[in-house]
Amino acid sequence: MDPLFPALTTARGEALRFGERSLTYAELATTAGDLAERLRDAGRVALWATPSLETTVGAVAALLAGVPAVPLNPKSGDSELTHILGDSAPSLVLTEPGAELPSALAGLARHDIDVRPGTDTGAGALPADPDPEAPALIVYTSGTTGPPKGVVLPRRAITSTLDALADAWQWTGDDVLVHGLPLFHVHGLILGVLGPLRRGGSVRHLGRFSTEGVTRELTSGATMLFGVPTMHHRIAEALPGDPELAKALAGARLLVSGSAALPVHDHERITGATGRHVIERYGMTETLMITSVRADGEPRAGTVGVPLPGVGLRLVDEAGTELTEDGPESVGEIQVRGPNLFTEYLNRPDATADAFAAGGWFRTGDMAVRDPDGYVRIVGRKATDLIKSGGYKIGAGEIENALLAHPGVREAAVTGEPDPDLGERIVAWIVPAGPEAPPSEEELATLVASNLAPHKRPRSVRYLEALPRNDMGKIMKRALPRQ
Ligand code: ATP
Ligand code: MG
Repeated sequence: MDPLFPALTTARGEALRFGERSLTYAELATTAGDLAERLRDAGRVALWATPSLETTVGAVAALLAGVPAVPLNPKSGDSELTHILGDSAPSLVLTEPGAELPSALAGLARHDIDVRPGTDTGAGALPADPDPEAPALIVYTSGTTGPPKGVVLPRRAITSTLDALADAWQWTGDDVLVHGLPLFHVHGLILGVLGPLRRGGSVRHLGRFSTEGVTRELTSGATMLFGVPTMHHRIAEALPGDPELAKALAGARLLVSGSAALPVHDHERITGATGRHVIERYGMTETLMITSVRADGEPRAGTVGVPLPGVGLRLVDEAGTELTEDGPESVGEIQVRGPNLFTEYLNRPDATADAFAAGGWFRTGDMAVRDPDGYVRIVGRKATDLIKSGGYKIGAGEIENALLAHPGVREAAVTGEPDPDLGERIVAWIVPAGPEAPPSEEELATLVASNLAPHKRPRSVRYLEALPRNDMGKIMKRALPRQ
């Protein structure tokens, strides 16, 4: 039996549902087991990761076969696909039958995954335990700060992160997950698909996220919801006019947010309308999950909780010295150590070496402070969210949260720009909430100065129709217009 999926041949009932189509555990074990037999000698495989039964069967089969799989984003442009294929050199691409592949994949052998619910031949020979240190998945980062990097993830990292989350979230085989995320990143694939399958629970994928889909699934047996902040934002916006949604969320066992910071304003609106908190967790492709608010812990808006079991976490200053004081002024970079870590960046030994400090500590590039009881608050990314202005180090996140509390502001991003006097000046990028006149620069500066501190006020405000975001809904600050 494969130690990654201990429940595959023993769990009963539905494993996966995509729209009208579903697979039981017995059907999944048979279909994925058959495909695994055929993939054994494939080397490395690409996975055309449409949200489908086929994609999940392909991922499970590759994992069973011990063949590293490279999930591809079907919305990627040709140049990104060409880069990823050149970098990862798969021998074939696994797809849904009938999927139209872009020209970047033309040179690659194609294997259409055949999923026929109802075929249960009794799951004959599932391949035996692959090596826990062998590469299991090569997942490309979200490309928020630069071109995506191929992250080599061993099975050991996947099992350890899923078991740590099971502990923190009291996650069991009785849980039924509502899933509306893409399947080519860690959140949607590892947490959202492999997580339930490891526990023997089930996944219902919405295809495209909608608040109607969330209501439907949570009122018909689903117990948990995983979302990125843009989904929770849509929920928060819909709640005042949708009592059914409020009731459905109030009855869920667990609501989880991750992949980017959940604005405090959205969290509070959801709690206000449902009486429920959203559990925030923090992780990266390279480290899988690092911290989470625990299901049995105290919820606290604006924090990502405490280190998961087995994960070592420290904050270090610019000289690399560990911070010993906790508190709002003790901002440091998060460094992480533990069995949840990746092996290397594919074909980038220099980048891999640069990513680690002495002692095997991985540099996340994320800045944080800690509450006295160990709850971590992410301030932002070192590269884009830490603004050095007038001798202060200021995190973009808290200013964004303050701006989002204004009813005239729909979206907000804060950046630093070179300034002859201040070093950097704080700039706020605002998407107004409606067609009426947006809040003025002065009004927003006063709001921030009075809620936070005068030196944190934006010195300029720029108005946009939308913020540039990637597939995970993350704000791509490098794509904001240059001045
Ligand atoms: P790239 O590395 O290509 O620039 P990326 O860092 O966005 O893209 P991922 O590995 O998918 O790629 O995302 C990890 C990052 O997402 C973390 O380093 C952190 O900045 C952010 N993140 C994840 N969860 C949270 C959270 N709960 N709160 C704040 N930030 C988060
Ligand atoms: Mg990153």
